[in-house]
Amino acid sequence: NKIEITILSIFPEMFNIITNYGIIKKAIESGIVKINVLNLRDFTVDKHKVTDRPGYGGNNGMVMLVEPFFRFYDEYIKKNNFKPYVVLPSPEGRTYNNQIAFDLSKKEKLVFFCGRYEGIDERIKAIVDEEISIGDYVLTGGELPTMVMIEVLLRFVPGVVGSKESVENDSFYNGLLDFSHYTKPAEFRGMKVPEILLSGDHKKIEQFRKKDSILKTILKRPDLFINKELSLEDKKLLVE
Ligand code: SAM
Repeated sequence: NKIEITILSIFPEMFNIITNYGIIKKAIESGIVKINVLNLRDFTVDKHKVTDRPGYGGNNGMVMLVEPFFRFYDEYIKKNNFKPYVVLPSPEGRTYNNQIAFDLSKKEKLVFFCGRYEGIDERIKAIVDEEISIGDYVLTGGELPTMVMIEVLLRFVPGVVGSKESVENDSFYNGLLDFSHYTKPAEFRGMKVPEILLSGDHKKIEQFRKKDSILKTILKRPDLFINKELSLEDKKLLVE
């Protein structure tokens, strides 16, 4: 495989949502991607398979124990003779974006640690390479953030998405929002598909889409646009 992802969670079944559907399922079946979802409880050694305890200091909730994570990590390195890149989904991390996803997609082996409750004992940071947040809000656990991150980064692994162009035209890839898409019927309740798209003139269609993409970005995401260097050709499109 091009990339192997290992996830540690107390709710491994949640990951069926990404592994059993669509392009990720296909990528797993074709061997491009390997996803191992491990149950954190399998790395406990006590009878009750405890993974959390009340936090020290009082008056805070349950905190996840570090031991099971470290036990997994040591075993992983021993077995693979390789240090994986470990991501900790956390509201404290850098906010996830296309660039971070692209960089992660280049790693051979990734590990995600899913926290719950108040999070994992702070000493987990000793084996974490990067903390990543999916936005300034708090979810109940690291499972959904991990799924979001995996889904986004896998789109950058060659072969996962059928057409390379479709990833490269998607929003954010080149600093712009995607152009507008239409399909049949050509007219619906009086709303017409822009005629140029029916013309078959590929050059004109490309220019039309580029202009649409730029205008949308200016109107909806001026923050993105402000950092974007337009080529002379693109600037000409805007004043046409
Ligand atoms: N006490 C933590 C705080 O206030 O920062 C929140 C813990 S949260 C309830 C439990 C777990 O969900 C976290 O350990 C983390 O793995 C995950 N999580 C919550 N919000 C997240 C976000 N915005 N991005 C990434 N992971 C998040």
